Amino acid sequence: MAHVVILGAGTGGMPAAYEMKEMLGKEHEVTVINERDYFQFVPSNPWVAVGWRTRSDITFPIEKYLNKKGINFIAARCDKIDAEGSTLHLDNGQAVKYDYLVIATGPKLFFQEVEGAGPHGGHSQSVCDVTHAEMAYEEYQKLLAKGSGHIVVGAMPFASCFGPAYEFAFIVDADLRKRGVRNKFKMTYVSSEPYIGHLGLGGVGDSKGMLESELRNHHINWVTNAKTTKVEAGKLFTTELNGKGEVEKEHEIAFDFAMMLPAFKGVDAVAAVEGLCNPRGFVIVDELHRSPKYKNIYSAGVCIAIPPVEATPVPTGAPKTGYMIESMVTSLVHNIADELAGKEPHTTGTWNAICLADMGDTGAAFVALPQIPPRNVAWFKKGKWVHMAKIAFEKYFIRKMKKGSSEPFYEKSILKMMGITRI
Ligand SMILES: Cc1cc2nc3c(=O)[nH]c(=O)nc-3n(C[C@H](O)[C@H](O)[C@H](O)COP(=O)(O)OP(=O)(O)OC[C@H]3O[C@@H](n4cnc5c(N)ncnc54)[C@H](O)[C@@H]3O)c2cc1C
Repeated sequence: MAHVVILGAGTGGMPAAYEMKEMLGKEHEVTVINERDYFQFVPSNPWVAVGWRTRSDITFPIEKYLNKKGINFIAARCDKIDAEGSTLHLDNGQAVKYDYLVIATGPKLFFQEVEGAGPHGGHSQSVCDVTHAEMAYEEYQKLLAKGSGHIVVGAMPFASCFGPAYEFAFIVDADLRKRGVRNKFKMTYVSSEPYIGHLGLGGVGDSKGMLESELRNHHINWVTNAKTTKVEAGKLFTTELNGKGEVEKEHEIAFDFAMMLPAFKGVDAVAAVEGLCNPRGFVIVDELHRSPKYKNIYSAGVCIAIPPVEATPVPTGAPKTGYMIESMVTSLVHNIADELAGKEPHTTGTWNAICLADMGDTGAAFVALPQIPPRNVAWFKKGKWVHMAKIAFEKYFIRKMKKGSSEPFYEKSILKMMGITRI
């Protein structure tokens, strides 16, 4: 009997656990280790920050759902990975041995990249985590009580996930309009992307034209190629670069509320393993999602190393979106199952990106097949249906993670009709 350990129970780790158990059956043991005892549906965090959702709407305790499927769960943080000895050392003193390890630890939110950034001792807010989103909501309440001010939303250098920054800007705009006070607030989008709609992807379809038009229609100004260097109480220091990477303009932007997505890095325990990661702590994997150095370590999700789609004047990374992550997961589950069956692993993920971005009362959807250009399919469309679809998807994904079915038959069938497959 082999022991497969999945480190991280987020968007990647949870489906990995269910798929792994389904594929391996009773013959092998599957254990999930996560530093928190609850799952959070990360895409809904921007809604928490404006009070449209609460923590209990978008989180649930992990253990009982995994146990129901015969999967072990340990709520503890892994502080050290002994890759040579195939052992994880946890903060509760436990040492867990594995035959195969799947690293799905997501990002380390590296606020330290910019002095004064972040909600813990800094001056900018975040929506990357449900606790951060709750803190942002408290600050947002103070802003509403004040009655007017300047709202800055955007992304720091080395950020790789830009969708939630756009979402949050449009959600705040919609919330203020609903309250009938949008006219009291100035809004500015400040991003390390080279242009609006780049999204870390070199754009998708006409994302540039459409998002510029949306920002204009919603009276949101913008600064792109923005190398934010410091945040003080109520002030953001940003150097705007031109296409050659030269200084175009220095900005000191006074704000009353700022939500800036941070740089991402790999989490400490993973980054510390000799020869496992790139210099920013992301796990280096081959097309099978396996570490070239440690053949019994696989990895999926935000924690893997993907080169940026293109060099940008201010450093940006390529986003790893939900469906793409599920595609990585399905691929590595097949490969571990093959290895255990004595076969050569051969399954690669498609890395197709499907994304629904909420804009408060409307939304934008994009499909990029594959996510990294050149692409066979690239479209970007806006409509109220996306807002509805995003709400439906939230309910659907949370239900799917409670029921323990990673890719139900009807999801697979619908996506297949659209030419979208995971592997
Ligand atoms: C605000 C936001 C909104 C997003 N919205 C969308 C969207 O709408 N659509 C989309 O396709 N993508 C979206 N994404 C991108 C992506 O889908 C998510 O970031 C997704 O949650 C990443 O999944 P993951 O499994 O890689 O990491 P996570 O979901 O972050 O999971 C990682 C897990 O590992 C645990 N962990 C970390 N370190 C340790 C350790 N040392 N020991 C034990 N456990 C550990 C963490 O606690 C966490 O539970 C969004 C991202 C953000 C930040």
